[in-house]
Amino acid sequence: MPAPVPPARPADLARPQPPAATPAAPQQDSKRQGEGAPPAAPATATEGACLRALGAVSGNRIRPPEPKLIATSDPACQIVEPVTVEALAVRNGDAPGQITFEPPVTIGCELARGLADWLEGSLQPLARGYFGRDLSRLRVGGGYECRRRNRQSAGPISEHATGRALDIFAFSIGEPKAGGFDVVVEKPAGLLQARFVQAIRHSACGAFSTALGPGSDAAHANHVHLDIQARRSASTRFCQ
Ligand SMILES: [Zn+2]
Repeated sequence: MPAPVPPARPADLARPQPPAATPAAPQQDSKRQGEGAPPAAPATATEGACLRALGAVSGNRIRPPEPKLIATSDPACQIVEPVTVEALAVRNGDAPGQITFEPPVTIGCELARGLADWLEGSLQPLARGYFGRDLSRLRVGGGYECRRRNRQSAGPISEHATGRALDIFAFSIGEPKAGGFDVVVEKPAGLLQARFVQAIRHSACGAFSTALGPGSDAAHANHVHLDIQARRSASTRFCQ
């Protein structure tokens, strides 16, 4: 069943939020917010199951987020099974490894698992195919953040506000000390890198419900935005 669209928000989103009366509840066992809460985990997910699965993979470096990072009394900004991701394992091929997130980013577990699958199934093979080297690091931003889309003062709530979105600014190929280099989304160096970024965006379009980047609009000129926004139909995607 498709999750409902987040409800309209009062116009005071941009105001600093008062601190929550109690520290944010830990990820598991917390009661879901009542009416007005945004779409949360899939109805089939058992609370905590995603985090347990993510933590069970050796090579995944994850930790609980700082309570103050996720403390909010705003019902539109609730994050389900929040997790701070330092690195995710990629297990395919003869050289299993890890892709680090620089800096570590706080997102919902469902997105983290989607990213893990995408890194392993698409990004690492693309890096090897294009450059003959492993992807070692993602330079990221824009994990969980209670705000509206594109930081506007009005309009729809951002997927970042529920930990269901991530922004990627650059892809590090190889290790820096061993001749590695960064492919910067805003300015790929040369045709090969530009094609690599295009291929990544193409694969992201299949793996996530939204994939935006340079050329989509001014707000996405320097990064690839991915999210797992629940849409009316599971096959509906928004890629530009
Ligand atoms: Zn974004």
